[in-house]
Amino acid sequence: MKSIMSMDYEELKSEITEKLGWERYRADQIANWIYDKHVLDFSEMTNLSKEYRRILGENYYVDKLELVDKQVSKIDGTTKYLWKLNDGNTIESVLIFYPNRISACISTQVGCPVGCKFCATGMSGFMRNLSAGEIVSQIIHMEKEARIRIGNVVYMGMGEPFLNYDNVIKSLKIVNHPKMIGIGIRHITVSTVGIPGKIVSFAEDGMNARLAISLHAAYNHKRDFLVPLNVKYPIEEIIQAAREYQKITKNRVSVEYIMIKEFNDYDSDAEKLAEVLKGLKVFVNLIPVNPVVRDFRRPSRGRIEAFKRILERHGIEVEVRVEKGTDIDAACGQLRIRSGKLRRAFK
Ligand code: SAH
Ligand code: SF4
Repeated sequence: MKSIMSMDYEELKSEITEKLGWERYRADQIANWIYDKHVLDFSEMTNLSKEYRRILGENYYVDKLELVDKQVSKIDGTTKYLWKLNDGNTIESVLIFYPNRISACISTQVGCPVGCKFCATGMSGFMRNLSAGEIVSQIIHMEKEARIRIGNVVYMGMGEPFLNYDNVIKSLKIVNHPKMIGIGIRHITVSTVGIPGKIVSFAEDGMNARLAISLHAAYNHKRDFLVPLNVKYPIEEIIQAAREYQKITKNRVSVEYIMIKEFNDYDSDAEKLAEVLKGLKVFVNLIPVNPVVRDFRRPSRGRIEAFKRILERHGIEVEVRVEKGTDIDAACGQLRIRSGKLRRAFK
């Protein structure tokens, strides 16, 4: 059995014409059922003959997700989903409502092997990579469940996208293709903890999605503590890769910086950050830490503003991320940890 949602458009087309020997437009029909109409059972694809539907059902499957838990923010409608995969593992996705668009935050792995100190996903361990089908399926299931259309996708859920590089690239093609999900490439953002080789590959592979790099610290000794992978790929190497990325794509890079009180929020941190980012076309997002770990607290509003002004003085564009769904712990990984079954599974 093969996963039909793990095929990009070219693969689906050749599967239908070469493997099955059917007409080319059958691939479009199937893509339309799944990605546009959200019909996930071959038996309901009524413009295909019964015989075709039977053949599909015998040889292929659709990556269905079972809804285990859902939380809706009373403040802003942010909706967090906990899904069960075919093998019983669970992952999270989040829908975020903005005035003019709906954004989806999706996962790329079950857990995450990077183990960042502030991150609920990182603390829950690592099980496995998601297939391309399991990645895109989150979008389809949220659209179906909430009866909406998603206009923006951010790969900022559970997992490190660049440690599941091939499946993530495949999923991007499916999210972007006009005959599949059809979301414009500039409306898709991939967030990475910073794996230099993959940042460069991303540019070389012609992936024109937006790139966000989770820096969180400008000094290596601080970043080593927060992001254990920094010991292997220190800040200079990540920034160098970002420069190469920018040379190829000409795209501005987003830099994510989680602000932790009395750890990385000093004036000296801001000055150092400006120095590290010099010459790079960036947009910095300052994110007050979500206190998953009790030791990490948020800086005061005034401290964050002071930090921001220092960056601005250096000509860096910067914004404090508007928080969404604070009442439902919208930072990915938290719902999963709270669900009792999982808490036991990870003990
Ligand atoms: N692994 C990738 C993508 C998923 S994590 C990466 O690290 O970039 C994506 C984002 O989740 C991080 O950049 C961070 O912004 C956010 N995040 C994780 N834990 C958080 C916390 N405790 N508070 C605020 N944001 C958090
Ligand atoms: Fe993994 Fe990103 Fe969480 Fe770090 S922040 S543990 S890289 S998901």
